[in-house]
Amino acid sequence: MVEAHIRGVGNALAAGWRVLERAGSGRCAALDAVEEAVVVMEDDETFDAGRGSFLNRDGRVQLDALIMDGATLRAGGVGCVERLRNPVRAARKILSESPHLYFVGEGAERFAAQHGLPLCKNEDLIIPREVERLRQYQADANSHGNELFAPAADDETISHDTVGAVALDCNGNIAAATSTGGTLNKAPGRLGDSSLIGCGCYADNQSAAASTTGWGEPIMKLVLAKWTIDRIAAGNLPEWAAQEAVNYLKQRVNGHGGIIVLDPEGHFGIAHNTPRMAWAYKTVKQQESGVERSG
Ligand code: ASP
Repeated sequence: MVEAHIRGVGNALAAGWRVLERAGSGRCAALDAVEEAVVVMEDDETFDAGRGSFLNRDGRVQLDALIMDGATLRAGGVGCVERLRNPVRAARKILSESPHLYFVGEGAERFAAQHGLPLCKNEDLIIPREVERLRQYQADANSHGNELFAPAADDETISHDTVGAVALDCNGNIAAATSTGGTLNKAPGRLGDSSLIGCGCYADNQSAAASTTGWGEPIMKLVLAKWTIDRIAAGNLPEWAAQEAVNYLKQRVNGHGGIIVLDPEGHFGIAHNTPRMAWAYKTVKQQESGVERSG
């Protein structure tokens, strides 16, 4: 699905860029841009976010998302939601309209509905490809005689397809957003790194914005997004910090994943220690995308 991934990140990039181009000064353009970019990838069945996500052990989709504003450090997160096509939209509503920072499950869905977001059925988020993927995974596990067996959870060729975006606007503000269906065959109620502040996502105008993808449990142990941003606050460039982050993830806890990082001067880093990670970036001068590059 390499082509579909490149097309998908390209469409997300275009949506985010449109917001940045349109924005008059004063609007939260970076925040709007990461939200729109992530919505495009949630709507794209290629990725593990929104419709088309990996299924949990019960065959249901459970989604997590976080969005964060580097200007104010306001953030909004949702965990284990089952009836939202675009959990990042609910996260944004929390950021903008709630005194709280994070909602889970039914309470998150109720908050979203009260703030004008439509609720769907869980079945609306499930696609045949993922039903078959779960069936195959559980059949493999059963052939090992243990239905809780997780075949090679530390195998970096197992797909992790969380989506994320970082943006810098003309006011010098940065923002980040991350959205996921989590890991295949996860236990119901399991929450990964993606929607946890500092783990799967972080943004601070005084240092950088970051979004991670990959095997969530190791990333959580290292609070990896914030770890990376702290390196930049200490004077390092995002390109170096991103590569250091995935090296640290591997060396310290045998984790695998990837990260995108952007600072308020427009320096950025893209790194992964998985065989592939689809990425795309655009500046006023150039645009590039790929699946292989690291560092
Ligand atoms: N990071 C996600 C999680 O562990 C999975 C992924 O990146 O696909 O929930």
